[in-house]
Amino acid sequence: MKIAFIGLGNMGGPMALNLVKAGHEVVGFDLAARPEGLTIAATGAEAAKGADVVITMLPNGAILRAVAAEVIPAMEKGAVLCDCSTVDVESARSVAAEAADAGLLALDAPVSGGIGGASAGTLTFMVGGTDEAFAKVKPLFDVMGQKAVHCGASGNGQAAKICNNMILGVTMIATCEAFALADKLGLDRQAMFDVVSTSSGYSWTMNAYCPAPGVGPKSPADNGYLPGFASELMLKDLGLSQMAAEAVDADTPMGERALELYRRFVEDEDGRGKDFSAMLPRFEKLSRNA
Ligand code: NAD
Repeated sequence: MKIAFIGLGNMGGPMALNLVKAGHEVVGFDLAARPEGLTIAATGAEAAKGADVVITMLPNGAILRAVAAEVIPAMEKGAVLCDCSTVDVESARSVAAEAADAGLLALDAPVSGGIGGASAGTLTFMVGGTDEAFAKVKPLFDVMGQKAVHCGASGNGQAAKICNNMILGVTMIATCEAFALADKLGLDRQAMFDVVSTSSGYSWTMNAYCPAPGVGPKSPADNGYLPGFASELMLKDLGLSQMAAEAVDADTPMGERALELYRRFVEDEDGRGKDFSAMLPRFEKLSRNA
């Protein structure tokens, strides 16, 4: 397939290179990044011209809207605009509507799996859009990832992503505060893990990504809390989930509290640049009303 790939950063760069490796014809564009091994166009519109699929992997919804406004007029009717960034549901739906008005197909297909998953081609795609668009891009999802779930109409991929990450943020905080409480009660961390990981408190954050160093499978906690999944990316996703909750008047008190705690961690404490599981040393240091 002829593919344009716009946004070649930490995630987009390796994803685009995996498509090249699989034999696709890829033309990339980025304001700054120039990954080796990719043909680069002078503008996004130039990259998009004649492409069967235009993939975007950008920082946020405002940038996605601006890039979409530039590339949609350059695309051929029937081509697919597939956004893999994590953005607000509103931007995803609005860009999809603009693409449809121009005779294009559109998908929102945010990912989980991080930079490691992008390089290894093992991402999970959560996809919103029509069956026709999903079927066209599915072979590319199969190259860049190990799983693509079609979640329904446009915006539903983003909805699935922010609901998942709201659970993840809340659960990580719960796991970290429980470890910090266990410490203060004199309970050994290994014993805590052995019990919780096989009891009703188990979760992905405890069992697969344990925030306590030296306990459970290898995780960023065993690597000085280098990300992994950075706290500021968790903060971004929790912000998107609260934005969505406000838009549809959903009561999400735990998501709201998780947003406050990650905001404090990233903006006022030393959380920026650390993995989101570094909430555990944060709780370790604090007393009850600090
Ligand atoms: P990044 O900042 O490394 O890459 C974004 C790229 O977009 C940059 O290279 C930037 O130069 C480029 N860009 C910005 N504006 C542009 C424009 N107008 N035209 C062309 N290029 C432009 O970010 P990333 O880590 O690759 O993340 C990309 C998206 O993936 C984000 O939405 C993020 O939330 C999501 N995501 C990231 C991770 C992760 O672990 N990094 C995991 C899941 C999802």
